Amino acid sequence: MAIVGGGLSGLSIALHLAARGSQVLLLEGAEVGWGASGRNNGQVIPTLSAVEPDAIVKRYSEAGERFVRLIAQSAEFLFRLAEQENIDCEAEQTGWLQPAHSPGRVRLSERRVEAWRRFGSPAELLDRASVTAMVGSSFWHGGMFNPTGGHINPLALTRGLADACRRKGVRIHERTTVTGYRREGDGWRLLTRDGSVKARAMALATNAYTDASVPHLDPRISRSIVPLLSWQMATDPIGEAVRARILPGRQAVSDTRADLRFFRYDARNRLVTGGSVLGIHDAERRVVQHVSKRMAEAFPDMAQLRVTHVWSGRIGITRDRYPHIHRLGPDFWSWVGCNGRGVALAVAFGRELAAAIDGAPASELALPVTDVDPLPFHPVARRIAPFVLAWHKRRDHTN
Ligand SMILES: Cc1cc2nc3c(=O)[nH]c(=O)nc-3n(C[C@H](O)[C@H](O)[C@H](O)COP(=O)(O)OP(=O)(O)OC[C@H]3O[C@@H](n4cnc5c(N)ncnc54)[C@H](O)[C@@H]3O)c2cc1C
Repeated sequence: MAIVGGGLSGLSIALHLAARGSQVLLLEGAEVGWGASGRNNGQVIPTLSAVEPDAIVKRYSEAGERFVRLIAQSAEFLFRLAEQENIDCEAEQTGWLQPAHSPGRVRLSERRVEAWRRFGSPAELLDRASVTAMVGSSFWHGGMFNPTGGHINPLALTRGLADACRRKGVRIHERTTVTGYRREGDGWRLLTRDGSVKARAMALATNAYTDASVPHLDPRISRSIVPLLSWQMATDPIGEAVRARILPGRQAVSDTRADLRFFRYDARNRLVTGGSVLGIHDAERRVVQHVSKRMAEAFPDMAQLRVTHVWSGRIGITRDRYPHIHRLGPDFWSWVGCNGRGVALAVAFGRELAAAIDGAPASELALPVTDVDPLPFHPVARRIAPFVLAWHKRRDHTN
């Protein structure tokens, strides 16, 4: 079996295939964790960003129901897997809070909690006083809390999964870019700049980075998303006195806005947060200014924070905001489009995709498999997507 891409998806597929007794080769063009998996905010969240459970079930019926349950259990699955594999990734299962930014969004939180609970999630509705006590600010109106969520150091988790894979016999080749592949006999031949390899089955786990180094690697996948740049940053460690007032329970927080406000502490007590800005000119300075101003609105105590690290990564956004799972050919699987929420999902998908590659029947898989849906006028869509997002952000003030 050959896996292309050494992020959480590729590594989780590899780990679960190896556990099923397969010989696995993983090819990563840069280094393990070089894509979104090493750059994300580390929030372990057992929901999708924009799609509700009932809509998933309506669209995919029984497979949809299995998929919703997989999402609901995904955070717990990630934390237990990290524990079993002894991965030191600064895991804190302190819960995930989605505070509501308006009274209208509190009603959305109510509907979400009710829906997720029907699928076995322990999600809870918190009123304004409880959210205020949890975060240390009355900026939000209430919200949804899920105690199975939390946060990890994403690069440490990804590297730790790679170590766990190696212990199970997976061969990982970094700095090995796959430049193409073709069907050959009863398998797939994968080409690299230095040679080629044949595998019975393959998985393309390159997600929003599919066209990053080889523009035409698989246009079916790269054209079904627009990659949006998300900026992340970390501050100087925050003193105990402030931490006792702001987010004393160290939960992961990301609110209901389209212009998401999200933050958490890391193991060194830095605040790890971020946001997005239009365009790349002077983006680092602009995003730090934008995010610092927003944080100070909710937490005046944090007005003077010094940002020490800034970085960015690509998020794969699909037209319908669903993640898409594809069978691209015989024994050839892929998924794309985390829409900003893929840490827990990628790890949970890995187990299912490994089962699919191993020949498990569709009726046992929590994977609603769909045809590839390339965006029409993809180059234009890529260019206008940030403006569409900016338009969505304007609506944060009205609902
Ligand atoms: C800035 C940012 C913040 C985020 N924050 C969160 C969060 O807090 N919580 C959450 O749930 N989700 C978050 N996400 C989403 C989450 O990080 C992703 O959904 C997840 O990491 C996807 O993992 P992956 O393995 O599918 O893809 P990636 O980690 O992107 O891995 C793809 C890999 O494929 C490799 N590759 C590409 N082309 C080739 C080739 N031709 N040959 C070989 N290798 C190749 C790349 O080098 C890369 O390492 C965030 C994403 C970003 C970008």
